[in-house]
Amino acid sequence: MRILISNDDGVMAPGLAALHGALVDYADCVVIAPDQDRSGASSALTLDRPLYPHTLPNGFIGIDGTPTDCVHLGLNGLLPEVPHMVVSGINLGANLGDDVLYSGTVAAALEGRFLDLPAFAFSLVSRQPEHLVTAAHVARQLVTAHERLNLPPRTVLNINIPNLPLSHLRGVQLTRLGHRARAAAPVKVVNPRGREGYWIAVAGDAEDAGPGTDFHAVLQGYVSVTPLQLDRTFHEAFKGLDRWVEGLL
Ligand code: MN
Repeated sequence: MRILISNDDGVMAPGLAALHGALVDYADCVVIAPDQDRSGASSALTLDRPLYPHTLPNGFIGIDGTPTDCVHLGLNGLLPEVPHMVVSGINLGANLGDDVLYSGTVAAALEGRFLDLPAFAFSLVSRQPEHLVTAAHVARQLVTAHERLNLPPRTVLNINIPNLPLSHLRGVQLTRLGHRARAAAPVKVVNPRGREGYWIAVAGDAEDAGPGTDFHAVLQGYVSVTPLQLDRTFHEAFKGLDRWVEGLL
């Protein structure tokens, strides 16, 4: 089996090396990742210039683009053989609830949705690599268990791993996305030449984080597994909209 590994923290990120290390003896692994930290890039594609891959001494391929660029090229011509599966991460930082909208880690996995095998996105709930070993072990366990999976086509699994020693993990929970409150206001800055700018602030706190959500699972010490689909159609809203659409033209 051939696995395409990517991330959004960049090709030099410790989480990427940890994920590669966890899978390298299980499958034929190719790593293609952004040459910079592109966290928050979502599913952006670079369409205004060409992309230039370069191979690092460790064999990883860096690209001056987004996570989605990397997986898109990896699945569409950059490699001599098409990979069977996309695995993304290990992100340093949670991708819970609303985070999946902005996450480049999740986006890299989503770009692998056309493959027959499910795509995985792994995130450690910490900005520090302290318990990356735990996350790498979990990633290995879940990916190697893919043969027991029976999922509809184009399912992506979003996995968040608590920042704990492996022995402290309580198990794996199937969850739905929770929700965050609005982010804090952007922080105003002034550069040395007097120009005003803004830093986008950190994500909002968990708001819908009760039992059954991804937030709740990781807080309780469980690995959270949330199946994601691309279809964001809001079926319940059809009722309120059908008559509105009728009278418009
Ligand atoms: Mn990231």
